[in-house]
Amino acid sequence: MSESIIPPEVRPKPAVPAKPPHVAAPSPTAPHGPSGLGGGVGVDRVPGLGHSGGGSTLLGYIGIDTIIEQMRKKTMKAGFDFNIMIVGYSGLGKSTLVNTLFKSQVSRWSSGWGGEHKIPKTVEIKAVSHVIEEGGVKMKLTVIDTPGFGDQINNENCWDPISKYINEQYEKFLKEEVNIARKKRIPDTRVHCCLYFISPTGHSLRQLDIEFMKHLSRVVNIIPVIAKSDTMTPDEKNEFKHRVRKELETYGIEYYPQNEFDDDMEDKNENDKIREAMPFAVVGSDKEYQVNGKRVLGRKTAWGVVEVENPNHCEFALLRDFLIRSHLQDLKEVTHNIHYETYRARRLNDNGGLHPISANNTQESNL
Ligand code: GDP
Ligand code: MG
Repeated sequence: MSESIIPPEVRPKPAVPAKPPHVAAPSPTAPHGPSGLGGGVGVDRVPGLGHSGGGSTLLGYIGIDTIIEQMRKKTMKAGFDFNIMIVGYSGLGKSTLVNTLFKSQVSRWSSGWGGEHKIPKTVEIKAVSHVIEEGGVKMKLTVIDTPGFGDQINNENCWDPISKYINEQYEKFLKEEVNIARKKRIPDTRVHCCLYFISPTGHSLRQLDIEFMKHLSRVVNIIPVIAKSDTMTPDEKNEFKHRVRKELETYGIEYYPQNEFDDDMEDKNENDKIREAMPFAVVGSDKEYQVNGKRVLGRKTAWGVVEVENPNHCEFALLRDFLIRSHLQDLKEVTHNIHYETYRARRLNDNGGLHPISANNTQESNL
């Protein structure tokens, strides 16, 4: 059942576009293969572009489309990192959702996440990683769980440790980038998105929700989600979602996918649909139950089982597919091109050009 969950609104956007079917692959004996554009070969020697006199060669096969296959191979070999952070008030089910993500279809694609995990109260920022492999491509998925708000007497600036963590990851990346002996592939620990949990009050956002999202949306992709949505009726849920969207707009909080970064009309139309469905109302659980002969992740109530991966029950599957199937590459790009770039520019300005940092210099960020 769960295999078929691809919500209609979220269309997978391949990280690497598929090869157009009408372009034939170059045959090894073809007069001009992909090497035609290789290093050191002048343009006038590229078959099909030169003055060969033969009219037909002008329309001949050049081979630039093989770049897609080259990119795919490289990505497959290198693998990639994807890091999700989870933030919100204490007791909203954040740690449970971390387990739900790893136990859900995401990790059933791979092996190794078994056993029962008792969830202790989160007291420090903690990252859990799991390597997922599919079709030969490896993804290291890391979920960063954070201690809840509202635990302290004074919650003023309670986002400081979170913002410090995010900046420290940018700093680490920057240090690697400016290093004289820099790595071919820099390990990416930067937070690609931050799921912000909203209490299912049915009323409005709390002051702290607004403050947090306002501050952090400048440094990271914020994705608001409604926690424990099994505690609301469908009508209450829809009304609450509508109200939260209005409030976010009123306070000028830019959450992901941000309007201003839509690439074109197609992107805008697709993202508009997603924005209208946000914030996703999720339910988390790390327990499995037998439903219609199948084992499903769910919450058992006196009235039946709330199936977390069933889109008719909640929007967990929608959120997971949005993050991991359709918008993963975009989340990474916005993180790199917008948030990290802003950090980098500010840091280089502040530091009058940041001197190259040697590998053993581990000075921490003071931002
Ligand atoms: P955290 O403090 O935000 O990390 O919250 P926890 O994950 O520790 O969960 C707090 C309590 O809420 C636990 O008893 C969970 O079983 C329960 N819980 C977690 N997710 C949900 C949910 O989606 N719906 C309901 N009704 N309860 C949940
Ligand atoms: Mg917790």
